[in-house]
Amino acid sequence: MTYLAGIAASDGIAIAPAYLLTEPDLSFERVAVADTDAEVARLDAALAQAKEEITAIRDLALDALGEHEAQVFEAHLLVLGDPELTDQIKNTIRNEKVNAEAALRDVSGMFIQLFKSMEDNPYMQERAADIKDVSERVLAALLGVKLPSPATISEEAIVIAHDLTPSDTAQLNKKYVRAFVTNIGGRTSHSAIMARSLEIPAIVGTKEVTHVVKDGDLLIVDALEGKVLVNPSEAEVAEYRQKAQAFADQKAEWAKLVSAPSVTKDGKHVELAANIGTPKDVSGVLANGGEAVGLYRTEFLYMDSADFPTEDEQYEAYKAVLESMAGKPVVVRTMDIGGDKELPYLELPHEMNPFLGYRAIRISLDQRDMFKTQLRALLRASVHGNLRIMFPMIATLSEFRSAKSFYEEVKAELVAEGVAVADGIQVGIMIEIPAAAVLAHQFAKEVDFFSIGTNDLIQYTMAADRMNEQVSYLYQPYNPSILTLIKHVIDASHAEGKWTGMCGEMAGDQTAVPLLLGMGLDEFSMSATSILKTRSLLTKLDSQEMKALADKAINECTTVDEVEALVAEAVAKATGQA
Ligand code: PEP
Ligand code: MG
Repeated sequence: MTYLAGIAASDGIAIAPAYLLTEPDLSFERVAVADTDAEVARLDAALAQAKEEITAIRDLALDALGEHEAQVFEAHLLVLGDPELTDQIKNTIRNEKVNAEAALRDVSGMFIQLFKSMEDNPYMQERAADIKDVSERVLAALLGVKLPSPATISEEAIVIAHDLTPSDTAQLNKKYVRAFVTNIGGRTSHSAIMARSLEIPAIVGTKEVTHVVKDGDLLIVDALEGKVLVNPSEAEVAEYRQKAQAFADQKAEWAKLVSAPSVTKDGKHVELAANIGTPKDVSGVLANGGEAVGLYRTEFLYMDSADFPTEDEQYEAYKAVLESMAGKPVVVRTMDIGGDKELPYLELPHEMNPFLGYRAIRISLDQRDMFKTQLRALLRASVHGNLRIMFPMIATLSEFRSAKSFYEEVKAELVAEGVAVADGIQVGIMIEIPAAAVLAHQFAKEVDFFSIGTNDLIQYTMAADRMNEQVSYLYQPYNPSILTLIKHVIDASHAEGKWTGMCGEMAGDQTAVPLLLGMGLDEFSMSATSILKTRSLLTKLDSQEMKALADKAINECTTVDEVEALVAEAVAKATGQA
């Protein structure tokens, strides 16, 4: 029995066999063959196997994920059935007397190069990607190697991977995937964030899970504690079944608070909001008693599409969210591409430090057409609910002013066209760059609100990459330096009669909540699944006592350990567990 430790990224406990989602070894030797007919027959068998596999994947994807996700596999079937490609491979086997693997690589490589060279034709670029995927599958069939594919999982499993991209994560079928565990990543990497919105338990940053676990090993994933047990004993399985039941009971207790107000013991009301990535997430927000959407990450709209989403497509998505929230506030963030969120059709230069590079508002201010499309869609949708707009990654007041005046221009243009736009739309910024946090008192005079993005604010303040588990010990939400910045931002907004929210993961962190309450945070926006436990915690806390606690943490504590001990003591007292 082996234990592995990692970072608990999405609550829950799961017990199921492992499914390894790792790169297979597709290496082979180029050899001469005498019996070319036999070699062509081998190729035909591999083509038939690939066809069977892709058809099965397409059917599963159609069933579990919908038509859009299944389309790519239709395209793969077309490539596979294209005689231009398959006949050329067969001719190469016959003419050059080489093995099928080599002929396949030569011919598919030539087509891929050809299509790739048509740079301004996105259709051809996609065909190149399709040929690459299909030829890899045929090659795997020739070599007798199994190709993993998340969409094909049709029995309960725990997915094991080096890393999962947001699109891999989106493909996981919740019906069968009980949990996932990765080598790299942190609590705020986007796969972790998506795991929470999909409510799949997850552990990230184990460093070595793909080396330790084999396909089919029985696993226990304790994503409450960040522990993985590989091939556990029967006694351990029984123990964890009980633990899973206790967690389910606890969740049922929290669920009773779904329609309750978010008030502290002494009657102070705060707003508990949720972060979403797509309109589909709104049902989870409402089911968990969310009072608002505090962050709609619109970049997923761009990432889920093969090309820039049009104004109408965006309008429909924003309208859907606003309407489903029925008048409750919805903070929509303009697109935040860059960092770990890539967009294949927006060719960004390769950067040494993507998190410090060309991303978010920096792209929007540079590529105004794209920004304008998004602002027009947002303004048109504004009449369908309570819209607030927020700019990400603002570093300077000049950036904010430039974005705001462009917004005003786009709005005036729409009004001149006779399009209805809501009155009083609040326009705010994310505080996620230390420079903006330090100058919050200046920003507060010009913005309508702040939302603190601690996922980035912590990485920039501590100079510790949020994705890098080697430096995850420096990723310290309760470091007094971070607390001092947060307090300054909240105080600065209040001095100007504005409000401050937090949409970084820290807002739902149960150790941070008492401190944030004490600092006067107005809105807490988190994964929907954290709302009810936070509401439960708030009912036990006294806001004045928490104010004293936060002041003490900022003024007297020197380390994270001291802060944690201070909070643990106060919470134990408040919840009667002292
Ligand atoms: C943040 O940085 O805290 C944030 C909410 O934005 P994202 O996680 O999308 O970078
Ligand atoms: Mg951010």
